[in-house]
Order: sequence, then structure tokens, then C-alpha cells
Amino acid sequence: MIADNLEKIRRQIAGAAQRAGRSPQAVTLIAVSKTHPPETILRAVEAGQLVLGENRVQEARAKIPLLPGNLRWHLIGHLQSNKIRQALPLFERLHGIDSLELARGVNRIAGELGRRARIFLEVNVAREASKFGFRPGTLREEFEELLRLEHLSIDGLMTLPPFNEDPEASRGHFAALRELRDRLSGEFGAALPELSMGMSGDFPVAIEEGATFVRVGTAIFGERPKAAA
Ligand SMILES: *Cc1c(COP(=O)(O)O)cnc(C)c1O
Repeated sequence: MIADNLEKIRRQIAGAAQRAGRSPQAVTLIAVSKTHPPETILRAVEAGQLVLGENRVQEARAKIPLLPGNLRWHLIGHLQSNKIRQALPLFERLHGIDSLELARGVNRIAGELGRRARIFLEVNVAREASKFGFRPGTLREEFEELLRLEHLSIDGLMTLPPFNEDPEASRGHFAALRELRDRLSGEFGAALPELSMGMSGDFPVAIEEGATFVRVGTAIFGERPKAAA
């Protein structure tokens, strides 16, 4: 079941990349395993899925030691500042760096630990009042300071558009994230190669708009228990 889902998703990724004239290798699938137990995650691993995503540091910290050591873990959700120290050694990349204050905190602790944290800046492209994230309008002012944080590697931008049944409703938000990346990288000479965007309902559209990381949970593992989602 999980193996079949993964095969289908890999085909969809390849199809979307092809439609956009991109190489399927340019897109990394992150299997979002939050709420699922290690036994379930292991089935994805056995089907060749070595890149995984979790959104809570405590949960990840409990599960990661129970799984093979060659897996690459991404933190996909908001990071609380009191969890930074635990998170840095566990995760290859942090996708939810959503404020200058949090970025400063990650930078300081990465420096203390002698590491360089690889991060994505989460941008609230739809300007939703309820969501975390940098605002597209003010990120340019904050970007100069962000680039000076020497223990951070800003790999790119991430977004989580408003939920909509229709994947086409996300397209404009994905395109806006790509355009913002292009503007920032032109203006500041920063590489920003990565775009983390697209979930179970809309990852093909995200790939057509330039996603290099897609974060897919439900389409691989099935529905999560409601309370924990
Ligand atoms: C849970 C989650 C996902 C995966 O969502 P699905 O709809 O289950 O694919 C992706 N990104 C973030 C930030 C999430 O919290």
C-alpha cells in the first residue's frame, strides 16, 4: 500500500517535472511521517524513501533513534525557540524559519554548537492573518540582516498556501514564491536554489511552478488521526 502510493507519487513527480521541462531529479520528495509510528515509516523506508519530514521536535526525537541511521530528516513546521538546540542535530534542513527573531535564535545556537544550519524562510505569500511566516512586502528589508547571520545557510523559500480542494487555487501562491525568490536573488546576489512547496493535494502544480522539495504525507501514509494532524 505505502509502496504503491510512493510509486504512484514518483510517477506524478516525473510527469509534472516533464511538463515543466525540468528534470525529475531536480525534485526531492519529503515523506511527511508526522503522527505515524516507526513501524509505518519503516515500510516507506523499505520502499526506498530515505527523506522524511516531521513537524514536532519532541515527536521526531522519540522516533528517529528507532529507525535506520541513513535517513535524512527535515523539520517542516514552525520551530519553537526553546526547541532549537534539540532540533539542530536531528534535522538536515529546517523549513519553517518564519521570523527574523527565530532566525537570529537559530543562528546563535548553531554558532554555539559549531554548526551551520540549513534553512528555508517560510513566507506567508497569501498574507493570511492566522499564519506564521515572513510577509512578502517586508522580507526584502529583513533579508539584508538575514544574509549576515553567519551560521545560517539560507537555501531557499518555503510556503504553505491556504487549504483549497482545488490544486489550481495554489498555483498563483506557488508562482508568487518563485517570483519573490527570483527578485531576492537578483537584488542580493543570493543563490536561493530551493523552493519547498506542494503537499498531497497540490504537489504536481507546485512542481510545475518550480518546487525543488515537495512535502507529501497523506498521499503516502493515508489520513492522519484528526486530533494529531
Ligand atoms: C503536514 C504537513 C504537510 C503534509 O501534508 P499532506 O497534506 O498530508 O501531504 C506538508 N507541509 C507541512 C508544513 C505540514 O505540516
